[in-house]
Amino acid sequence: MTYYECEACGQLADFADAHGRPLHRECPVCEEQSVWKTAFTDERTGVSF
Ligand SMILES: [Zn+2]
Repeated sequence: MTYYECEACGQLADFADAHGRPLHRECPVCEEQSVWKTAFTDERTGVSF
């Protein structure tokens, strides 16, 4: 699971279909498209950056 953080407001979300790449999504807090960056991942095996 990759967790994303809204760059504008710091809201955390997990996007199951996104895998570690920065992306643009609508933020429920900002109520507009914003940039989401990877906050952290909780996978235990074989994740390398
Ligand atoms: Zn936001």
